Amino acid sequence: MSATSSPSPAIVWFRDDLRVADNPALHHAAASGRPLICVYVLDEQSDGLRPLGGAARWWLHGALEALDASLSSLGGRLAILQGSAAQEIETLVAQTGAGAVYWNRRYGAAERALDSGLKKNLEARGITVRSSNGQLLTEPWTVLNGAGQPFRVFTAYWRACSRQDEPAVPLSAPATLTFHPWPGQMRTVSLASLRLEPHTPDWAGGLRRAWRRGEAAAHERLDDFLEDGLAGYANHRDLPHVAGTSRLSPYLRFGHLSPRQIWHAAKAAMRAGTTRASQTDLDKLLAELGWREFSYHQLYYFPDLARRNFQARFDAMPWRTDPAALRAWQQGRTGYPLVDAGMRELWTTGWMHNRVRMVCASFLAKHLLLDWRDGEAWFWDTLVDADPASNPSSWQWVAGSGVDAAPYFRIFNPVLQAEKFDPQAVYVKRWVPELDGLPTSVVHHPWEASPAQREAAGLTLGQTYPAPIVAHQAARERALDALKLTTSPSP
Ligand SMILES: Cc1cc2nc3c(=O)[nH]c(=O)nc-3n(C[C@H](O)[C@H](O)[C@H](O)COP(=O)(O)OP(=O)(O)OC[C@H]3O[C@@H](n4cnc5c(N)ncnc54)[C@H](O)[C@@H]3O)c2cc1C
Repeated sequence: MSATSSPSPAIVWFRDDLRVADNPALHHAAASGRPLICVYVLDEQSDGLRPLGGAARWWLHGALEALDASLSSLGGRLAILQGSAAQEIETLVAQTGAGAVYWNRRYGAAERALDSGLKKNLEARGITVRSSNGQLLTEPWTVLNGAGQPFRVFTAYWRACSRQDEPAVPLSAPATLTFHPWPGQMRTVSLASLRLEPHTPDWAGGLRRAWRRGEAAAHERLDDFLEDGLAGYANHRDLPHVAGTSRLSPYLRFGHLSPRQIWHAAKAAMRAGTTRASQTDLDKLLAELGWREFSYHQLYYFPDLARRNFQARFDAMPWRTDPAALRAWQQGRTGYPLVDAGMRELWTTGWMHNRVRMVCASFLAKHLLLDWRDGEAWFWDTLVDADPASNPSSWQWVAGSGVDAAPYFRIFNPVLQAEKFDPQAVYVKRWVPELDGLPTSVVHHPWEASPAQREAAGLTLGQTYPAPIVAHQAARERALDALKLTTSPSP
């Protein structure tokens, strides 16, 4: 580049960071003084990349639309390409004569391999490549235990993270950006042509009613939560009938918000006194962000998180094959009201409360003795927050095969869980209206309702609502027997 010529463009490659504020890749690209080309590549063909599930694809559509609108308001646009990401970016560089490419880092093995291969190729041709941390508070390699090994226990991990510097203050949204014209010879694809949203049938009505996608909606949700939800979070977060958690998970998943933004916004709200939250509420929220970080720590050091038992002894687990039971679980027809409520909430809204996720996952892996990977795959397909790290790590945690997992003998009793966390059955009755007429005393175990109670409620077990597909005590014993087979140390 001569002193007089205008600088060659910089490409900003958006991935799981679909926002303009606190986006280090966008920020550094803008600061370079180069005109920008902003691009997203839908890559469903590169080796090892896990294709998005249906609900996440639905979310992605709205996310790309919203990001394009934000960039348009700054005078640019988001170009969409489809195909092998590395090839598409290389072609774009060649077509535009771009001198630099910016992105925020990813932590899955296939993504890292793709990114580092591309970086090497581009740098060999003199192109600047700059990657940043846009997704985590603490990147996996920056925190290790005393022996220089990855952590396996959350409390020790989080303590070590807490000893590190405070996460960086978030970058503000750019007030202005300079864009480079899109090269005429390079074909983009339209958002509609990606067919991310379902058509026939259109099953996304419940998702549309439940969510607004995009960065602006994420900030509104965060502000509302800090104003109304953070106070009492430590107590309310386990109660599925209370809107007691932030519901920020899909916004974090797609990077409409960074965890840094949540971290600092929550602390600022405490300082400003705009929330009546206690220090315990704040610490609890930050620790939940910590669990997300810990999941990425696991994904980074154990890339097969979604496919292989972290504890190899679980390879001996005699999982059953029972398609009818799997279907009953997926459809919320197990006969256990809390499990059914959760599975229906998931199907309808693309989200499920954390306490209920644990109960539903435990029911699949322990009561039904079905492979946790079957459950993980269903969540992957139906959650709007389906996350490559948090989903498999949470499943392995519940199944007992994971890092710092729940002890194998802890088998959630779905009735006791319901009585403890949904004592008035508000949540269960919301999602399982067939049980609406039953008194609270029996609603969580309708098979024990008296004939008169059933008649008054219009309930016929096996017809209007399923009889339990397994008996709790027998299922528990079967699971414990099966789990014993895994307790001998791996060879
Ligand atoms: C079987 C199972 C599967 C799960 N799958 C996912 C998934 O695919 N994607 C996902 O984001 N979370 C997953 N979780 C974790 C947790 O249930 C959700 O993050 C949480 O319910 C999201 O709701 P929220 O935003 O209101 O959470 P809040 O309680 O408000 O927490 C704030 C944020 O912290 C993070 N967080 C909270 N709890 C956890 C946790 N246990 N593990 C990791 N991160 C956490 C989330 O990013 C969340 O948005 C799973 C949990 C279980 C038991």
